[in-house]
Amino acid sequence: MNKIYLDNNSTTQIDPLVLESMLPYFSEKYGNSSSQSHAFGWEARAAIDIAREQVANILNAETEEIVFTSGATESNNLALLGYINFLSSKNSEIITSSIEHKAILDVCSRINKNGNNIFYIKPNKDGIIDFKKVKNQINKNIKIISIMHANNEIGTIQPIKELGQLCKDNNIIFHVDAAQSIGKIKIDVKDMNIDLLSISSHKIYGPKGVGALYIKNKVKIEPLIVGGGQENNIRSGTLATPLIVGFGKACDISLKKIDSDNKKIKKLSNNLIDGVLDKYPDSKLNGSREFRIPGNINFSFPFLKGMSIINSMPKLALSSGSACTSSSPSPSHVLKEIGVSKIDSNTSIRLGIGRFNTNKDIDIAIESIINAIRNKI
Ligand SMILES: *Cc1c(COP(=O)(O)O)cnc(C)c1O
Repeated sequence: MNKIYLDNNSTTQIDPLVLESMLPYFSEKYGNSSSQSHAFGWEARAAIDIAREQVANILNAETEEIVFTSGATESNNLALLGYINFLSSKNSEIITSSIEHKAILDVCSRINKNGNNIFYIKPNKDGIIDFKKVKNQINKNIKIISIMHANNEIGTIQPIKELGQLCKDNNIIFHVDAAQSIGKIKIDVKDMNIDLLSISSHKIYGPKGVGALYIKNKVKIEPLIVGGGQENNIRSGTLATPLIVGFGKACDISLKKIDSDNKKIKKLSNNLIDGVLDKYPDSKLNGSREFRIPGNINFSFPFLKGMSIINSMPKLALSSGSACTSSSPSPSHVLKEIGVSKIDSNTSIRLGIGRFNTNKDIDIAIESIINAIRNKI
């Protein structure tokens, strides 16, 4: 495929160093990390111990606070359902936002079906959740506040540290979906007062099918998957050694490269945004330009009157809205919540620039977008 990959908010290319680190665990190092009676098992356990440390490091967490899962979807399910099931009370209410990933919204509707109230905070028109709105929604039944760190469609960054303090002051468990911010924004679970945090490997140049839930010491949750008692009884099942090794390596590289990656990606993003805005100043960048993760660009083009340009850019691999919703014809819930009209959201495109994109990619992207627009108007 010689398309230019600009969909790094959906998933990322595996870093060659990550792939290299995984390969021995697909071949000669095949032990089960639970087998502690021979060297095959010890070897797998040792590799997982290192990966756990690498994952803990990127969050400033302790190794025993990391539970490996199959990805951020599972981590989000485990965090919210696991804590609510642990409390097992009908009066457990949750505050979340209306622009969360489906992996939070769908879990919340399930919890709501079981009789617990959910409050959805609407963002402002820039896609930012106002701390005061969350504060005003708190009542004595609120048990969890779950707010994403960065949005997967419009890249906006939420005031996590302030929300963490608010939860701490009110004795409420704070969960953060950090699948989009990890490796792009420095995360310190202690400084940010976070109790539960979900991350995924494949958004940071690691393999698909693995992620983690950070569970702060002493926070209790009920497992969703029971069996062999792995991961301190919180997530049973044989650990996926090669995937976990790759995930650890991906965290290690991302932490080391966070400043240089950000600098490069921010520059490419600015070039692309300005390149389109210079030519078509009536284009609309959805979501705050300032409080935004590097690399995410979400444009709509009101002057196209609902016509999509996505099929007119054969050189580019990008999304209209989020990949999870782009197969369904209904407009993006995130764009709707920040006030983008249904007709304008039809014209929206999301570009995600990543570690492996080049200046040339961005030049071609600008040219493709401008040509596609010119051919429609
Ligand atoms: C990608 C993503 C998820 C889902 O992660 P998987 O590892 O693919 O299950 C959840 N939340 C956000 C914000 C995401 O971007």
